[in-house]
Amino acid sequence: MTIQIDHLHKSYGSGAEAHEVLHDINLTIDSGEVFGILGSSGAGKSTLVRCINLLERPTSGKVLIDGRDITGVKGKELADVRAGIGMIFQNFSLFQQRTVLRNVTFPLELNHTPKAKREERARYLLDLVGLADLADRYPSQLSGGQQQRVAIARALATDPEIIYFDEPTSALDPELTGEVLAVMRQLAEEGMTMLVVTHEMGFARNVSSKTVFMENGVVVEQAPSREFFEDPKEERTREFLRKIEHTN
Ligand code: ADP
Repeated sequence: MTIQIDHLHKSYGSGAEAHEVLHDINLTIDSGEVFGILGSSGAGKSTLVRCINLLERPTSGKVLIDGRDITGVKGKELADVRAGIGMIFQNFSLFQQRTVLRNVTFPLELNHTPKAKREERARYLLDLVGLADLADRYPSQLSGGQQQRVAIARALATDPEIIYFDEPTSALDPELTGEVLAVMRQLAEEGMTMLVVTHEMGFARNVSSKTVFMENGVVVEQAPSREFFEDPKEERTREFLRKIEHTN
């Protein structure tokens, strides 16, 4: 599946109050690619992710999936588009009153997968993220890193074509960050298409195939990751990388 973002703009408010937070974004994400999206807080990264899965509607421009414009889809078509997209958020967003197993089976209940099949798939996925033993616990009984791995298993349940990660490790301490990044690295190696908004330079540099740097609603630079980190073309990118290196 190829996702193409074509001259995408997004404004909030209208008239004199209008505030453009995304300005003429153009990106192509091919099947199996891992995109790292970097940028300071307020750059527009989350808004971009939300426009791609239509949690927000772009003000103008298009999102194309395999050449088909999905920007205006509604109802069942919208549900189908969303079913192909897994989402991971920084605060995990698990159902607190459900066990780990029943968090992962949840999307399969929604699409009416038979019970035995749901459980079989959920147990397989929990094993994949290293949590087979914790299936009967509740989220509050898990560490943050374990909760995020449950969220990843849940996102994989419906076999999505692409997964968006929106700062998946920013609520975690370094040790727990490592275990979540290991699962993400494994998914990347297995060929999952991933779009990862991150502050983890190691992940962007070593795991993502392409890196995009955003600032003030604009894509300043996008390049294959090796080139991006070894030979950034834009002064603003170099400045950002220097600042990050300094704080790490
Ligand atoms: P990032 O993810 O890079 O931190 P965001 O996409 O969250 O950036 O935000 C980009 C800009 O859009 C910020 O200036 C933010 O205040 C603004 N913004 C985000 N969501 C809304 C909204 N629902 N209404 C108005 N402004 C918003």
